[in-house]
Amino acid sequence: MGKEYSLNFYGGEPLLCFGLVKKAVYFAEKLGRESGSRPRYSLTTNGSLITDEAIRLFNKYRFALEISFDGTAQETCRQEGSSARIIRNIQRLLACPDIQLEVNSVFTPGTVQHLSESARIILDLGVPSVQVSISAIERWPKVSLRRLRAEMKALREVAIENFRRTGNVGIANFKGSRGKGFFFCAGGQDRFAIAPDGGLWGCFLFPGFFRGKEKTAEFRKYYFGRVNDLAVSLKKTIPRVAAKYARLSLDNFSTSLGPCLFCPEFETCAVCPVAAALSGSPLGKIPDDVCEIQRIQLRERRKLDKELTGAS
Ligand code: SF4
Repeated sequence: MGKEYSLNFYGGEPLLCFGLVKKAVYFAEKLGRESGSRPRYSLTTNGSLITDEAIRLFNKYRFALEISFDGTAQETCRQEGSSARIIRNIQRLLACPDIQLEVNSVFTPGTVQHLSESARIILDLGVPSVQVSISAIERWPKVSLRRLRAEMKALREVAIENFRRTGNVGIANFKGSRGKGFFFCAGGQDRFAIAPDGGLWGCFLFPGFFRGKEKTAEFRKYYFGRVNDLAVSLKKTIPRVAAKYARLSLDNFSTSLGPCLFCPEFETCAVCPVAAALSGSPLGKIPDDVCEIQRIQLRERRKLDKELTGAS
């Protein structure tokens, strides 16, 4: 085990099994004391089951928390009446100095008109980072893509306003350096995910993506097996399956217009193959609307960078 590693809790809703989360943290801490390894924790939750005990644990172990909250679209697509409860919980978490908080807001063609205003409202609560996610489960007709263009432009303005006020753009989509080179999926390379049934995958998105596809060749290609069974064949199975994951890189992806390799955005686009395939296309085949969504986001990101550096 390396000196530092990340232990991430995803769902479904991990706080439905808070006792297990607690147990895993105590175990990792004990292991850390014995081996010198240092765990870092993160947890993704819908924010509805946050108790005082959970907040104490998150604060003590300096969790990075990602709360799924869709702002003004929340009541349209999630549980009615959930907004007020989640906002209250966000405020409780913001009062804890050692919790690193990010809100993830998901928008669909049906809720895209809420995008920029939702981000503004969430930042105004004092949340330091908002990730805007564009759902690829539904197809995006031209009219919705047009609205997305306008909303992403407005989102850039929200980010600039926030930067002027706080020195932080606040929108995770616009943060961080993109580095050089082309995108590859890190699933099965430097990370693994264990599903509730004990199945081992390259990343947390895979078990959900392959649910109901257990008899397919693709399932067998990306499934490492159950953790308990793997102990006997670890040395052989891990490299064999990891080699399949290693092919999930942009140079192997394509849209209906041709290979991504020839796209001017090849070195800047980072499209998650699983998210892109949620509407039913095969892994590595990027639907044209998902490709257009990437381009819209990249354009706004570039404009923001220019505005912030004062370039023309
Ligand atoms: S913008 Fe589209 S074509 Fe270009 S690299 Fe991204 S997904 Fe591929």
